[in-house]
Amino acid sequence: MPDSLPLPFFHPRPRCTDCRRRPAAPNRRLCTRCLARTRTSSTRAEQRARHHVLSFLGGQCSCPGDPCWHSGPCPVDCWDALTVDHQHHNGHLDRPRNPHGKRTTRRIWRNYHRRLKTPNHGLRILCASCHHVITRRTLRTKNTPISPTTPPSPPSR
Ligand SMILES: [Zn+2]
Ligand SMILES: [Zn+2]
Ligand SMILES: [Zn+2]
Repeated sequence: MPDSLPLPFFHPRPRCTDCRRRPAAPNRRLCTRCLARTRTSSTRAEQRARHHVLSFLGGQCSCPGDPCWHSGPCPVDCWDALTVDHQHHNGHLDRPRNPHGKRTTRRIWRNYHRRLKTPNHGLRILCASCHHVITRRTLRTKNTPISPTTPPSPPSR
C-alpha cells in the first residue's frame, strides 16, 4: 500500500498545542516551527546549566591520579573534555527517558544543576580519559569476587 495516500478528510491533523494555529508535525504535539523554537531555547538553557555546573565544580578534572594515566593531579581543564561523575552511582536518576523509554541527555545539565543544590550530591568533574579509567576499574573490582581461593586475575587492559 503506498503511504502517500492522503488522510481521510474526517480525520484532520491535530493542531499544535503551543501556537494552536498551525497543524502539528506528524506524531508530535507541536508544529515544526514551535518544535524548532523550543529546541533552541532548551539548548540554550542547557548550555547555561552546563556552565554553572562546570564552574561550580572547579572547571577542571578532579582526578588526583595515582593510579591513573597521569601522575599527580590531572591537568585537563578543557571544558569540552569534561564530564560529570556520580560518586553515588545514581547517574541514572539524572537521565530522563523519552517517550520510547530511551535514556536521553536532553535535560541532563539542568538536572545536575538541581542536584548540586542538595547536600552530599556526590558530583565531581572528571575528564573523559579519567572517567573511562575509573569506570573500567570499578567494573573490574565489581566483577571480581573477593575470596582467598580466587587466583589473581591476569592484568587486563
Ligand atoms: Zn505551533
Ligand atoms: Zn582527568
Ligand atoms: Zn585521572
